[in-house]
Amino acid sequence: MIQKKSPEQIEKMLVAGQALADVINELKTAVAPGVTTLDLDAMAERLIREKGAEPSFLGYRGFPGSICASPNKVIVHGIPNDAPLADGDLLSVDVGLILDGWHADSAHTYPVGTITPKSQRLLDVTQASLEAGIEMCRPGNRLTDISHAVQRVVEHEGFSVVREFVGHGIGRNLHEDPQIPNFGPAGRGPVIEAGMVFAIEPMVNAGGWRTRTLDDGWTVVTADGKLSAHFEHTVAVTPAGPLVLTRLPAPSSVGA
Ligand code: MG
Ligand code: MG
Repeated sequence: MIQKKSPEQIEKMLVAGQALADVINELKTAVAPGVTTLDLDAMAERLIREKGAEPSFLGYRGFPGSICASPNKVIVHGIPNDAPLADGDLLSVDVGLILDGWHADSAHTYPVGTITPKSQRLLDVTQASLEAGIEMCRPGNRLTDISHAVQRVVEHEGFSVVREFVGHGIGRNLHEDPQIPNFGPAGRGPVIEAGMVFAIEPMVNAGGWRTRTLDDGWTVVTADGKLSAHFEHTVAVTPAGPLVLTRLPAPSSVGA
């Protein structure tokens, strides 16, 4: 069941979302060659706790980090480690926090140092596909209008969309109904209504869409070893359209 939120509850989710956006804004300045993802994880946890929040991921089903750190062929759920980032890497960082009982969830893929034009295009296209999905978050649309919009942007550019992992509802729980695939025909699934809040998160591969999970039980990589990118925002549906809770600066109104 999709749990809708009141305008007052969306205000609270906006506070959580903006706190997360602040954390990410600071975290991204630390992404550089030589830095380890354990360094970034420690920084993220400190920044989250400074906000009076808690990391949503730490301990979630036993996950050991406050961030998922997924370099290059790692699509999602990478465990922070002590390997230094190298010039030319792509690094996806997924972060969630819970503040005053409300979760926010957001991911970005960063260039480490200087990256190739193809890597940059993968980032640009993944980000554009997220924006296309966000644009569909309007009352009266159907859920898979989001899915279809994402897939269209990605495949038009010759990249592929991961099938096994999807976006999700979010609120008092990190993962709520509905599941939001990043592919499929438009015009299916529940009608989107004001008060729904979604974490939309395209995972886009430079090669094929197939994935493989490593023996640690978490790390998901591209089956063909090619690069992958991931962007995510937490988005509230308001009567006026999508309100991106995890983007700075704060939107002026929840559209109540
Ligand atoms: Mg996430
Ligand atoms: Mg998510």
